[in-house]
Amino acid sequence: MEEREKRILLKSLVPVPREISFEDAPDFVIREKAPLLLRFGGKKELLPAAEKMVLDSFKAFWNRTVKIKIETAKKGIPVKEGYSITVEKSLLTISFSTLEGLRNALKTLRQLAEPVRNKARTEDFALVACTIKDSPAFDFRGIHFCVFPETKLFDLEKKVRLAAYHKYNYAVIEVWGVFPFASHPEMCWKDRKIDLTELKRIIHVGKELGITLCPQFNLLGHAAAARGSTGKHAFLDFAPELQTLFEPGGWTWCLTNPYTRQTLADIVLELMDFFENPPYFHIGCDESLDFASCRTCRKSNREKLLLDHITFFDELIRSRGARAIMWHDMLVEGGQGTPFEGYIAFGREEDGLGKLVKRLPKDIIIADWQYGYPQGADGKEPHWPTGKVFRDAGLDVLACPWLETRGIVSQAETAVKRKYLGLLETTWHQTHNYPQVYAQFTVAANAAWRGGGTNVALTGPWSGYSIATHRHMREVCQDMGVTRYEETGFTEYQVFPDPFES
Ligand SMILES: [Zn+2]
Repeated sequence: MEEREKRILLKSLVPVPREISFEDAPDFVIREKAPLLLRFGGKKELLPAAEKMVLDSFKAFWNRTVKIKIETAKKGIPVKEGYSITVEKSLLTISFSTLEGLRNALKTLRQLAEPVRNKARTEDFALVACTIKDSPAFDFRGIHFCVFPETKLFDLEKKVRLAAYHKYNYAVIEVWGVFPFASHPEMCWKDRKIDLTELKRIIHVGKELGITLCPQFNLLGHAAAARGSTGKHAFLDFAPELQTLFEPGGWTWCLTNPYTRQTLADIVLELMDFFENPPYFHIGCDESLDFASCRTCRKSNREKLLLDHITFFDELIRSRGARAIMWHDMLVEGGQGTPFEGYIAFGREEDGLGKLVKRLPKDIIIADWQYGYPQGADGKEPHWPTGKVFRDAGLDVLACPWLETRGIVSQAETAVKRKYLGLLETTWHQTHNYPQVYAQFTVAANAAWRGGGTNVALTGPWSGYSIATHRHMREVCQDMGVTRYEETGFTEYQVFPDPFES
C-alpha cells in the first residue's frame, strides 16, 4: 500500500493503534450476516455479554447483524484492555479476553469503517484489510472536565462520549458551585443548580461506553468554586455567615475549624454516593496561596495542619474503597534557584510543606500538572522534575498536561519511563476552540493510550486540528440524537453572536 494511503488511514484513528499493518487486499464488507469470528481468552461467563455488545454495536454503527462464531483459546489472546483484529475479505476476527478489550476493538472498527462508494446514499460499510494488535500504555487514561455555571450538560455529555470513543477510561468531573448538595444546600449557587437527573444519566452513559466518571471537590485551595480572576464566590457571595469555614480571603478552607472538616466530609461522602462509589476521588488542593492565614491557622504548625487534613480525607475516601487524587503544586517548593525553577511548584519554604512528600499516605495519587514546555538553556527536552520527587517517594503519579502539545507527548513518554499510573489531561474553561480540542481529544488521547506520540502527523488538511476528531464528534452527536444546531460540533455558534464584536 502506498505511504499516502497509509497516512490517510492512520490519522483516521484516534488513538492510532500501537501495532497496525495494512494489506493491499480486498475489503471486508459489513453486509447483513457478514461472518465475524470472536477469539476469546477470558472467563466463559462473559460470553453472553460479549455477544450482545457485538450485536448491539454493529446494529448501532452500521445497522447490520453479523453472524458470530466463537472460538475459545488459551494462548496468544490479548489480555485486559488489549485486543487484536484481523480484517480479511471473507472474515473479520476480533481477539480479546475482557469486555473492555472487546469494546476497544469495536471503537477502532467504527473509526476504520468507510461507506462503500458509488452509491447516492450510504448503504454498506467496508473495512480495509489489515492486522491490528493493540493495548494501552497506562491503566489510568483520564480527562478532567469542569462543570461551571456556564456549562451545558449536553456539552459535558458530548465530551464524555468523545473521550470514551478515544479510549480515555476515566473522567474527573469537577463541579464548580453547581451541585445542589442535600447535606449542605448552601454550598451551591442558588440560581445555578445543575439537573442531577441529567448528571446521573451521563454517569451511566459513561459506564456503558467504558469511561468511569469520578468526582472532584477542592478540599484546600480554590474553595471559592469560581475562577480566581472573577472575584466570584459560590458560597460566600450569598451566605456570608459561612466565613468561619474559610480563610479571610475566602480562597482556602480554614483547616483549624472542626466544622470545616465536618462540612467537607459530608460533601465528599455525598459525592461518592452520587457517583456510585467510583474508584477515585480528586481532592484538588492546588494553588492554596492564602493557606493558614486566619488568626488561628496562622499560629499553627502548617505542615502538621495540612498532613492531618490530607490523612483524614485519604482515610475517609479509602473507607469507601477508593483512592484520593491530589494536585502536586503545594508540596514542592519552587521558584528561582530551586530544582523546580520553570516548573509548576507553589510550595513556600516558610510553610514547610515541601517536607510532606515522604509523610503522605502511600495510597494517595499525585497529579503533577505541568502546562508548559520548559526547555533548559541548552534547548533540551524538559526533564519534569516534580513528578520524579513523588515517584521516588513511592507514590503513584499522574502526568497532567493541558494545551501544549509538545508537553503532552513529552510528559507521556516520561510517565512510561518512570512507571506512572497514567495521564490526566486537563481542559478547564478552554475546551471548545480547535487547537484546544486538538490537544485534548487528539494529541492527549494518543499520548494516554500510546505513552507518547505517533509516527504520523495527526493534523490535516490544516494544521491545528484533526478532521478525524471532527468526524468522531459527529458520530457522537448522532448517537445522542442531537437535532439542534447549537448542540452540534464543538462550539454552539460559528460566529460570536455579538453584533459589536470587533
Ligand atoms: Zn483558619
